[in-house]
Amino acid sequence: MVKLCKGCSQELPLNLFSKCKVEKDGLQRRCKHCFREYAKKNKHKMIDQTASIQGSVWIMKKSWWDKVIKELDTQNYGPLIQDSHEMIFKTWKAGGKLVVNKNTWFAHKHRSFPRTHNNGTKENPARCEEGYAYALKTWGKYYKEVIRPRFNI
Ligand SMILES: [Zn+2]
Repeated sequence: MVKLCKGCSQELPLNLFSKCKVEKDGLQRRCKHCFREYAKKNKHKMIDQTASIQGSVWIMKKSWWDKVIKELDTQNYGPLIQDSHEMIFKTWKAGGKLVVNKNTWFAHKHRSFPRTHNNGTKENPARCEEGYAYALKTWGKYYKEVIRPRFNI
């Protein structure tokens, strides 16, 4: 099986594409090589727009939170996942930007304790599949029609 890369316009084996839940075939539209080339080309930009973040750390003005984010939707996403997606899409929809500061380093390190973040607990289950489905239903069309063209992905 091969797929046409929207970046280099080559038909490439599927293993050369990263996963993407939004796409029908479950793969990014651009090949891994095209993503690496983009990163190399924009390496000099220390503050740069980005289309995704590692969700456990982010910084924003409190006034932006109060005006745009307001509350995180635990009812539909579940209690433990998709919070970064919700914040990012609300930010984009309100005309804001998601940027990365390449002068910083963030390490998601921990000691040896049982990790419960993605799985929740018996009393407080994460409901991951429901949260993913809700995120796709809520933001999938906006992602395809607005965000993907904006980032040319
Ligand atoms: Zn490519």
